[in-house]
Amino acid sequence: MNGVSTDTPLVGKLALIGTGLIGGSIARAARASGAVKGIVATARSAETRRRVVELGFADQVTETNAEAVKDADLVIVSIPVGASGTVAREIGPHLKPGAIVSDVGSVKASVVRDMAPFIPEGVHFIPAHPVAGTENSGPDSGFAELFVNRWCILTPVENGDEAATEKLKAFWEALGAKVQTMTPEHHDLVLAITSHLPHLIAYTIVGTANELGEVTESEVLNFSAGGFRDFTRIAASDPTMWRDVFLHNKDAVLEMLGTFNEDLAKLTRAIRRGDGEALFEHFTRTRAIRRGIVTIGQDSAAPDFGRKHAPLPGAPIARPYAMDED
Ligand code: NAP
Repeated sequence: MNGVSTDTPLVGKLALIGTGLIGGSIARAARASGAVKGIVATARSAETRRRVVELGFADQVTETNAEAVKDADLVIVSIPVGASGTVAREIGPHLKPGAIVSDVGSVKASVVRDMAPFIPEGVHFIPAHPVAGTENSGPDSGFAELFVNRWCILTPVENGDEAATEKLKAFWEALGAKVQTMTPEHHDLVLAITSHLPHLIAYTIVGTANELGEVTESEVLNFSAGGFRDFTRIAASDPTMWRDVFLHNKDAVLEMLGTFNEDLAKLTRAIRRGDGEALFEHFTRTRAIRRGIVTIGQDSAAPDFGRKHAPLPGAPIARPYAMDED
């Protein structure tokens, strides 16, 4: 083993199934924080497993999920939610009594439904969702600071083992996250509006603009700084992950979509009627929400998300101009 930075790690052996953005970030953060004694990782494809060996963020890389979870104290499944049940069925018989099994899926009720039946008695199943991410995927995209100051939501089962939940909470806190518990159903409703619907809107608007773009040629790209660019970042998110999110959080997303459509109709009517007062009042309220998010430290106050701007033509270059990497 290497990379262990404390004598008293919270967790002995951490097994990671799935080593993309989230699994890879957990590994890096767990090692950097000294929260675990050792990390065993695996991924579906030989190519990803080979890359994990090259990147070196796990102490051991196994070929199968069953091998990875053997003797593990904490197992975290970090794969698209649609595959959760299949993986739970595979690892169930190999879990150590007293182990904690968790996940990171963006939907919780379906994960509980799909995984819980395969978790044996004596193993603590505590689903989780770190509300942190980027539009990138794969083992190279992870980084240790991803969870710092971000929320991680735990959805423990009723009458579950409190000590196990406390341990998982302490693990996420060691990675820099703030932890809250709620029911899976409440999680799915909250995330439908804060995350799933915004992604659906981004996917829609970028697709619509692209169809228009074929008419207006490069104008959509040339003038994309005016708001559209921020949607393109979200719309670049992983297609498999987001397909699974919408398939597995269908009811909550449809409920929020109904409310959204009503509000959109109100704004449409205000524009049609030239009701400037209604538009101004609405935009003032939404501006206050953005400011609130900055005030509670969930985003930077830097304008334009802190993007760097190119120097004036002919001006001395104070620092090399770098494209932003948001
Ligand atoms: P990712 O970077 O695409 O990595 C996905 C991992 O899952 C890879 O190791 C992949 O293996 C493996 N995998 C894919 N399909 C699989 C299958 N059918 N069976 C078994 N393994 C499979 O994805 P991610 O962003 O880390 O997302 C993982 C989970 O985190 C998802 O449930 C997502 O909802 C949740 N999440 C994501 C974000 C975000 O912003 N990305 C934020 C919070 C939570 P191969 O590389 O070998 O294909």
